[in-house]
Amino acid sequence: MNKPKIVVLGAGYAGMMTTKRLTQKLKPEEADIVLVNKHNYHYQTTWLHEVAAGTIDQNRSRIMISDVINRKRVNLVQDTVVEIKKGDKRVVLENGEIEYDYLVIGLGFEKATFGIPGMEENAFSIQSVDKSRIIREHMEYQFARYNNENADKDHLLTFIVGGGGFTGIEFIGELAERLPELCKRFDIDKNKVRIINIEAAPTILPGFNKELIDYAVHSLESRGVEFKVGTMIKECKEDGVIVGEGEEIKAGTIVWTGGVQANSIIGKSGFELTKGKVNVDSDLRAPGYHDVFILGDCAWVMDEESGRPYPPTAQIAMQEADTCANNITALLRGSKLERFRFDNKGTVASLGGKHAMGTVFDGKKLFGVSAKAMKNVIDNRYLFLLGGPKLVLRKGKFRPF
Ligand code: FAD
Ligand code: NAD
Repeated sequence: MNKPKIVVLGAGYAGMMTTKRLTQKLKPEEADIVLVNKHNYHYQTTWLHEVAAGTIDQNRSRIMISDVINRKRVNLVQDTVVEIKKGDKRVVLENGEIEYDYLVIGLGFEKATFGIPGMEENAFSIQSVDKSRIIREHMEYQFARYNNENADKDHLLTFIVGGGGFTGIEFIGELAERLPELCKRFDIDKNKVRIINIEAAPTILPGFNKELIDYAVHSLESRGVEFKVGTMIKECKEDGVIVGEGEEIKAGTIVWTGGVQANSIIGKSGFELTKGKVNVDSDLRAPGYHDVFILGDCAWVMDEESGRPYPPTAQIAMQEADTCANNITALLRGSKLERFRFDNKGTVASLGGKHAMGTVFDGKKLFGVSAKAMKNVIDNRYLFLLGGPKLVLRKGKFRPF
């Protein structure tokens, strides 16, 4: 008899951890496991702001999938998913097709530009290794250009980050560390550089703890960052943005961190979307599809206490992977499926260099070096879960700055 085939799409936090857990839970004779990913490497999305700013090398954020996933148990398919034909239980890839009995979708996020004119075409976004390294190269090019132009050049050294959520603020923190270095390298007075964060809400990190927000603002302003809060970006041009009532701010680099939505393949494949993602059932299956699980940034999981969905994070994606692997195992063995329960371990944001802030353990606040050390612990814990102590030693972060 043919073994059931489990196909996992996307080797991000959700896909990697689901695959890893399935290899640990299932015996080889119970199922075939296939992992499909665009690249032969997994990248740490949570480090991409550092890759984009150039404060870490791109290879630091990348891990070869075959280094951490047992290839004897998992068939790795390097290909790009084009569409999911859920009625026929098959996935269309750029270079072929694949059938499944159980499907796990972990294809991650895309930027959401909310129809803002010019944003799609003119702004960079921090979405993948490829999209991050182009930001790094572009920024360096602006410094090189500055020294070769005679007139109308001041805006080349203005860097706008649109959106003051966690991605925008973590990226701004890296810029505050990196741009002074580039000034030195290109013999440019650092006062020529402007780093501007534009946030539509009355404060950055809307909804987060006020004391921590104040700390972040103070830390970043003291390193030269300008904040424009309560300011909506209305349009993005090649050389600047239009905000508020029509004010234009010129810039050489514009990075959009104003929001995320599920990978567009999900909508294209006919899953019903709510605000860009699929509202999954409490066992993480797509409503109406008993053989399809949707995880990570493609899904909304409801927090029953607040009646609102949890924010999409790597932390929740990894926990969803555990539940998903348990539930696929239960389906194969004919036992009862479990409900997903989120165990919130807190939120820590890096602010560049030795600066960070956040909450851990039921709301305990951390600032500065202790927050940065905690951030390293969180990052290293993930590496440990994925690849054990060897991976921590190879890729881990140990210094507080
Ligand atoms: P991803 O990790 O994005 O993985 C998706 C995978 O699918 C990728 O490997 C991609 O290559 C692959 N893929 C995409 N399309 C295709 C296709 N068509 N075919 C084949 N493969 C495909 N969360 C936290 O909890 N803590 C943090 O500190 C934190 N920091 C962040 C910093 C930044 C800069 C950003 C952008 C996000 C951060 N987040 C953080 C959020 C977190 O990274 C995401 O919630 C998390 O990555 C979601 O995991 P995922 O598995 O759903 O998707
Ligand atoms: P987000 O949706 O959380 O933040 C986007 C921000 O952009 C919001 O503050 C919004 O008000 C603002 N915005 C939207 N439209 C705008 C406009 N036209 N003009 C100006 N501002 C505008 O998106 P994100 O920051 O990319 O975060 C995505 C997810 O990843 C979140 O769940 C977040 O918690 C998670 N994340 C977590 C960490 C961490 O834990 N350290 C780091 C990065 C991201």
